[in-house]
Amino acid sequence: MDSNTATSNRIPLGGEFLILDNNQDIFIPEELTTEQHMMRTACRDFVEQLGERIHELDEQAKMMEEAGELGLVGAHIPEKFGGMEMDKNTVTAILEELGRAGGSFDTTFAAHTGIGMLPILYFASEEIKMKYLPDLSAGIKKAAYCLTEPGSGSDALGAKSTAEYDAASDTYKISGQKIWISNAGFADVFIVFAQVSGENTPDSKTGFTGFVVDADAEGIRLGEEEHKLGIKGSSTRQVFFENVVVPGKQLLGEIGRGHIIAFNILNIGRFKLGNMTLGGMKRLITTGVKYANERHQFKVPISSFGAIQYKIAQQHVLTFALESAVYRVSNLMKIKNQEFIDQGLTFEMALLESAEEYAIECAIIKVFGSEALDYAVDELVQIHGGYGFSEEYPAARAYRDARINRIYEGTNEINRLLSVKMLMKRVMKGELKMTDAAWAVQKELTKLPSFTQDTKPLAAEKTAVSNFKKMALLTAGAAVKYQMDGKLDLANNQQIMMNLADILIQTFIAESVLLRIVKLKERNDVQYELKECALKVLLHDTQDVIAKLSRDSLASFASGDEKRIMLMGIQRFSNYPPQNVVELRTQIAAHAIEKNMYGLLD
Ligand SMILES: Cc1cc2nc3c(=O)[nH]c(=O)nc-3n(C[C@H](O)[C@H](O)[C@H](O)COP(=O)(O)OP(=O)(O)OC[C@H]3O[C@@H](n4cnc5c(N)ncnc54)[C@H](O)[C@@H]3O)c2cc1C
Repeated sequence: MDSNTATSNRIPLGGEFLILDNNQDIFIPEELTTEQHMMRTACRDFVEQLGERIHELDEQAKMMEEAGELGLVGAHIPEKFGGMEMDKNTVTAILEELGRAGGSFDTTFAAHTGIGMLPILYFASEEIKMKYLPDLSAGIKKAAYCLTEPGSGSDALGAKSTAEYDAASDTYKISGQKIWISNAGFADVFIVFAQVSGENTPDSKTGFTGFVVDADAEGIRLGEEEHKLGIKGSSTRQVFFENVVVPGKQLLGEIGRGHIIAFNILNIGRFKLGNMTLGGMKRLITTGVKYANERHQFKVPISSFGAIQYKIAQQHVLTFALESAVYRVSNLMKIKNQEFIDQGLTFEMALLESAEEYAIECAIIKVFGSEALDYAVDELVQIHGGYGFSEEYPAARAYRDARINRIYEGTNEINRLLSVKMLMKRVMKGELKMTDAAWAVQKELTKLPSFTQDTKPLAAEKTAVSNFKKMALLTAGAAVKYQMDGKLDLANNQQIMMNLADILIQTFIAESVLLRIVKLKERNDVQYELKECALKVLLHDTQDVIAKLSRDSLASFASGDEKRIMLMGIQRFSNYPPQNVVELRTQIAAHAIEKNMYGLLD
């Protein structure tokens, strides 16, 4: 067992965090090995030397080649296909560092290495993998992913592009219009989704299907570069297909099963997105702290003002929280991956299956990461005052560039809906014993609360997170019960679905930070006290958020005594002692201000 592997006997299944106690051993970034740190340093140096080129459209293809030369593009690809076959946690560390670049290069890199390359790795035949992956891994060729159409964005399966089969030549003729295609301007390879039709299709199958298409095939035309709000240096174009002939062997997976590709690739894409926002946040916080130390008003640096310190501290708390969750999920996928390999799956199928297992957690990372980044950039602009509104300073571009993360890889609304639907599906299939756990919480409410106080270190924090789960189970359990009684149409009540999703997100994030802190205490981490401040601030805030979301939900569908008892339950489970968050935030900010950089180092 290497040092990146959690030691528990059985790792939690996807979504299971909600019903397990918080005695789990998770992987934390402080456990990254010396080699992994060296890899990080190399990536950081690479990003540093890219400088302003990361924002230039004409430089994107070239930078991918440079990243390819360093082995960064194929870090996650098996060696036999020209990659470095690195383990998941190393890839996570690499992506975090590349995320420091932020903006346009992030989009280029993520579109190529994620949604561009992975459909080939997971779903193409060996012959097609050998044909494309070595050059894609080296960054010599670039890939793009063509799913979205004018009439189908979130409703991706509603795509109208067609792929007409010709049995005589065993080819498909693809026609249709794709929009918002990242990397389209310089891509050599397109992953294209279209509806297969025609006489005598293989196995008489039709429907939504994925293909690998060479960008220089006859009949492909590109639209102009889009004028976007942000990531202006990334290439985003429409791609028109007019009777583009594609050999049958370029088909991905099975006919009519393109949704398996689209959705599974997005699971991984979502994790990668949250993973990269982490590096971006750390860099932007450093930019803000430096500015706040340099800028003087009323004869003192603005970093001496409590109002500015609050922003700096809050940026740190969110970043630390995201980081805890990212490395936790990374390692879960890594262990699951190995389990699948031990069961005989190929490297690539194991990767795919492990991402599917933790699809709920991947959606959580995407939503939390993109919204935390938006908080960080918004306050970065504010710290810069009027200069934040000027293109002469980095804050304005960072603000514009960050916004896309809440829209692509599935909008945050779609990801929220998905996380709850996936959870409910697991409950209905009996894979997740949520109903029993929810019933236990209901029963607890009929008993008097215990007034004995555990004085062990972090006891209050552990209780707080247990209680967040109880609030989540109470609310979600009640929603399921009212639905089964025909009193709530949950699937069609999106406001409640959104509340449940946010409860899920907040609970997972809070637990990730708690488990990290528990481990850091055992390890006597040099920054333990500061990191514990972040935990306390987070729990103090999270409790109110979860309690409100639960109350809003229960008050909307529950009734009578049941409603009254459950609302009292929410109050009972909101008993984390109020923290002196003013002092805690001041400490976090003071450290960063003194160091003149992001202060909660791993
Ligand atoms: C810069 C950029 C790069 C992109 N790159 C790519 C790419 O490389 N490849 C690719 O295929 N696509 C790409 N996209 C497309 C992107 O994935 C879509 O824009 C996104 O999925 C949303 O689709 P839409 O724009 O049609 O919005 P819509 O689906 O029309 O959504 C509009 C609003 O309605 C909400 N909504 C939609 N359906 C529901 C629902 N069922 N319940 C609740 N709310 C709902 C959405 O959350 C959103 O707020 C890119 C987009 C941009 C802007």
